[in-house]
Amino acid sequence: MLNVLLAAMLAAPVSAAPTAKPTKAKGLPAMLAETAAVLATPAIPIPAGIGKYCSIVYPSGAWAFSFTDANQDPCADMLASTPGGTVARAGLWDGTGGNNVVYQCAGGGIGLQKDYGDKALKAAFDDALGQKGCVFTVAPLELPIFSHPFPTKPNLGMTNGFDFAHGFKVLSNNGIELDHVNRHGNNVAYDGHNGFDWMMPTGTKLVAMAKGRVLIAQTRDVTSFCPNEDELIQKEMFVMHVVGTGRYKEIFVAYYAHFDTMSAEAGDIVEAGTKLGTAGDTGCSTGPHLHLSVVRGSNTAAHYRVNLESPTPSGYTIQTDIDPYAFSWSAKAEFDPWAWRKMNQGHGALSIDLWKSGQAPRRD
Ligand SMILES: [Zn+2]
Repeated sequence: MLNVLLAAMLAAPVSAAPTAKPTKAKGLPAMLAETAAVLATPAIPIPAGIGKYCSIVYPSGAWAFSFTDANQDPCADMLASTPGGTVARAGLWDGTGGNNVVYQCAGGGIGLQKDYGDKALKAAFDDALGQKGCVFTVAPLELPIFSHPFPTKPNLGMTNGFDFAHGFKVLSNNGIELDHVNRHGNNVAYDGHNGFDWMMPTGTKLVAMAKGRVLIAQTRDVTSFCPNEDELIQKEMFVMHVVGTGRYKEIFVAYYAHFDTMSAEAGDIVEAGTKLGTAGDTGCSTGPHLHLSVVRGSNTAAHYRVNLESPTPSGYTIQTDIDPYAFSWSAKAEFDPWAWRKMNQGHGALSIDLWKSGQAPRRD
């Protein structure tokens, strides 16, 4: 039903034409260079109701931005009608649900829009009119691909959340760093915490959250980070998840840390529920728990593609970490503050709620 609504809605001419003709047609853009890891990762189908968008820039400073249903190819259509451009961003948006849209123009113009269906995309397009070299980065509020990473029973409580306050230094009365708006009540995050921590007994089964491919399963000596911990060899795993195909792929990497045992290895193809190992207390950990982070490899503020093939020894840069619970949608003025701060600095990534209905672990 959603797909039908989306297609009908998008049959209207909502595609935006280039604001100016390029001075010189240069043919099709360079082929998209995907890393071997992305190409080796089986695709998760695009969820119902989700469409494709494309942001193109031309050497003249002209730009084009178009959004369609999932069966179309807006980049190819725009490049066919006005050749010579380069795809700056291409990915997924929600035809009826919420979307965050950031536009950044060559002259420094930057802004965001947040609304339902195509409203935010149209508004961002209107904001950018008259400016040159504008690139549009879109994120659906929800892209439901993840199942739970551990058994939902026992119902395990979260002890630390994603630190939206990074750089904001919001403190509670007892000095604990809070989420920027403390939006989850008693949930807290310490400065720079880039994921979620759930306490659980050693041996609790940990599983893949969606179809994907194990990028890295490693043991890492964390003595230099956490010299006072009792188990200094941290067991951790990175699992890549790719939604959609071709230039519209949205790419994520889930990072699990502090395994007691690992039962998957690099290159393994996994499905939702495939066992990765068991929870433990290895590395920078003061009690058995799962630390789960999610990183975006597509359509960040600064990059169409981020190379996630080779994480640094300490994981990925926090610049592309996202909150898989996304951000509250309760008020239009609210916007993922951490992401927006980073957007203004030229990097950062918009959070997306990646959980399937009923699959998100507790956050209290
Ligand atoms: Zn943690």
